[in-house]
Amino acid sequence: MSPSRAEELAVPASLQQETARLAVLPQMRAAMAWFHSHEEQIAAWQAEMAAIPAPPFSETPRGEWLKNRFDDLGLEDVHLDSVGNVLGIRPATGKTFVTLSAHIDTVFPAGVPIAVRRQGSRIYGPGVSDNAAGVAAMLAVAAAAQAAKLTHALPILFIGNVGEEGEGDLRGMRHIFSNPRWKNSISHSLILDGSGTDTIVSEALGSRRFEVIVRGPGGHSWSDFGTPNPILALARTIEAFAASPLPASPKTTFNVGVIRGGTSVNSIPESASMRVDIRSTSTVEMERLENSLRTALDRAVAVESRSNERRSATKRTPQKLTSEVVAIGNRPAGELAPNARILQVIRAVDAHLGNAAQSQRASTDANIPLWLGREAIAIGGGGTGGGAHTLQEWFDCGGRELGLQRILLALLLLANPA
Ligand SMILES: [Zn+2]
Repeated sequence: MSPSRAEELAVPASLQQETARLAVLPQMRAAMAWFHSHEEQIAAWQAEMAAIPAPPFSETPRGEWLKNRFDDLGLEDVHLDSVGNVLGIRPATGKTFVTLSAHIDTVFPAGVPIAVRRQGSRIYGPGVSDNAAGVAAMLAVAAAAQAAKLTHALPILFIGNVGEEGEGDLRGMRHIFSNPRWKNSISHSLILDGSGTDTIVSEALGSRRFEVIVRGPGGHSWSDFGTPNPILALARTIEAFAASPLPASPKTTFNVGVIRGGTSVNSIPESASMRVDIRSTSTVEMERLENSLRTALDRAVAVESRSNERRSATKRTPQKLTSEVVAIGNRPAGELAPNARILQVIRAVDAHLGNAAQSQRASTDANIPLWLGREAIAIGGGGTGGGAHTLQEWFDCGGRELGLQRILLALLLLANPA
């Protein structure tokens, strides 16, 4: 699906009317008024949470903080699950759940100094936008819903999930969608990631990541010359793999991002390794490129294992290289059907609010439900931000209200199916 195709689909008039009707209900007006009068509270939550370090696999202190906020707001069944996701429910009579989620982990490793400061409408510090902005928006929506005593047909499951970034590999969302309590009972997933109101992630960019390791006997560069060399095998692998043909559409990319190996200039290395990243919105294309990588590796190892026949005049016993491909990341690809209700809902809300937004493909928590064929989108938590994944990250609260209105309207439409 090209980004423009989703844009072209008209929102049904009935849904547009339903959006306008919902927006003026007294409860809804009360919730919107809560956003307006509580910007200071929302920014304070955001800054307070961003100051708690949450490196991948060490999110628990931040999770405990969020659990306390869920308890304060009076959500039901508030708990941390076995991987550290924080859950809380706004109950209703319906049998399936609508989720509003935001990841609580950051890209910053343990030990990175996390200094958060506020200046005017701005918050500065690592993670203030990605994803303290998303978590703050989720809390604001939960708080406004509680304060305004909003009613809805389907229960809403609020989730602060772990493991979205990097080697977290979407483990928090994966856990939710493999848990027997949730996996078949979530109808729609609204995911908050970062700031802004101008994007709708409706296509899941998949990625596969590998550590490729080549091992050999090693030896002295002079006296053992002819022994197969793992670095040369990797070099041959990279040369062949980099020549793999790529489709223009669906966009498919690869990267060799890290290469390691050897001990000294006059030693034939005993091992060498590299890290490879493959991305596409198509699972088929990712598999094809993975096969190219494996084929290139097998050939390179075979050629290099015969190297002593070429390099050494004296007859030697054949020495072989071995290789291993270890999967270090696997984010499945997927996309929404163009007529998906969740896409029509966000379009109707954007039309109602006069907000312009573009469909995008990205790698987010939405990859998991989209891969499973469920309806999910990822949108921003409002405001504006920049410098994501750097120590210079910032967030500006200006315009946050629009983002919160957008999230609440979409959530309520999803929780009140026609
Ligand atoms: Zn994020």
